[in-house]
This record gives sequence, structure tokens and C-alpha cells, in this order.
Amino acid sequence: MVIELVLATRNSHKTREIQHILEPEFRVRDLGAHPEVSEIREGGTSFEENATLKALAASRQLPALVIADDSGLEVDALGGAPGIHSARYAGANATDRDKVDRLLRELARVRAIEDGRRARFRCVVALARNGNLLGTFRGIVEGSIADEARGDSGFGYDPIFIPEGLKQTFGELPTEVKNTISHRAKAIRALTDRLRRLEFGD
Ligand code: IMP
Repeated sequence: MVIELVLATRNSHKTREIQHILEPEFRVRDLGAHPEVSEIREGGTSFEENATLKALAASRQLPALVIADDSGLEVDALGGAPGIHSARYAGANATDRDKVDRLLRELARVRAIEDGRRARFRCVVALARNGNLLGTFRGIVEGSIADEARGDSGFGYDPIFIPEGLKQTFGELPTEVKNTISHRAKAIRALTDRLRRLEFGD
């Protein structure tokens, strides 16, 4: 039996990555298929809280198993910024390119030394049903910030993030590689362990 999940997002990049990681064992649809679900505000102070808020809000409005992803980039030299503000780092209507440019400008301003370019992507995925939280699952990928944007695969900060141990940015690496080592891939793998147990009814 294929388990059906609703991903509480309208970010098609996240949906594509999560579908790539979860299908064909699980079937994933996002809120694009559910225009009746009202806009969900992310008022929390952590990835964990925001993922939980999004999953609970959607699961109260839909008779489905709901997952929500809250994620972002933390740069050591910027004191962990943009962190939970990653999506709106250059303003509400800014493009991915604007966000990348702002981050590189801020790093240049603090004249980051090698170590200060250290960064990590974090992802928390929350699982909920009927307004009840069933669990949260975390993933982290460590890395560093490139001197300039490279590659146009992926989304967001991918063109400036070099995962530890590799030379290419997420923007340059094949999708399969990112979807094996990323913060999101790790969080989703932890989620699937829980989902497989749910299928058998505990
Ligand atoms: P939110 O989880 O909807 O608050 O947004 C997360 C934001 O963090 C995205 O809009 C991206 O800017 C950034 N982000 C999260 N995950 C990734 C990723 O895998 N690659 C690049 N940027 C990411």
C-alpha cells in the first residue's frame, strides 16, 4: 500500500526534492492541490517550532497525513544568520539571487576568514494528523560558503553552499547527490522510519 502524504508548502522546489526522496514508496502532494487551506504563518523562534506550526495548521484543515519542512542556512561568521529567516533574508519579494547576493555582501563586510565561512543547512520535518503532532525529524549538512555563486541546480542558497568533503556547490552537484546527502534527505530518512512503523499500526 502506498502511503499518501500532504506536504504543507507551496514551495515547489521543496516538493520536488521531497518527492524525489520519498517516491515511489510514498506519494507526496503539496498545498498546490489544496487551495482551500489558508495561508500558514511561521511565527516560531526555531525550525522545530515553525515546522510544527505548519504541520499542525494544515492537518487541522485536511483529512490527511501531513508533513511540513522548515529549513535554512546558518553561517558562523554571521552569528548563525540567516537561520530561520533564510526565506526572507533580502525582503519578502526578493529572488534567490538577491538572497545569495546579500549573504555574500554581509560575509565580505565581516571579512570572513577560512573558518568563518563555515556553514550548515538545517531541516526539521514535522509529521501531524488531525491536529496532533506525531513527531519531528532533523537533518544537518555541514559545509562552507563559496566565494561566488556557482551552478544553477537546486534553489535558494544552493549555488554558494559547498558540502563538507566536496569541491562543488549544491548548485553544481547532480540532483541525486544533493538528495542523498542534504539536510532534507537526512530529515526525510528519519521520517520514513517512523512512517513505515505507522503503516503497521503503532
Ligand atoms: P522556509 O523553510 O519555508 O522558512 O524557507 C527555507 C529557506 O531556506 C528557503 O527559502 C531557502 O532560501 C533556504 N533553504 C532551505 N533549504 C534549502 C536548500 O536545500 N537549498 C538552498 N536553500 C535552502
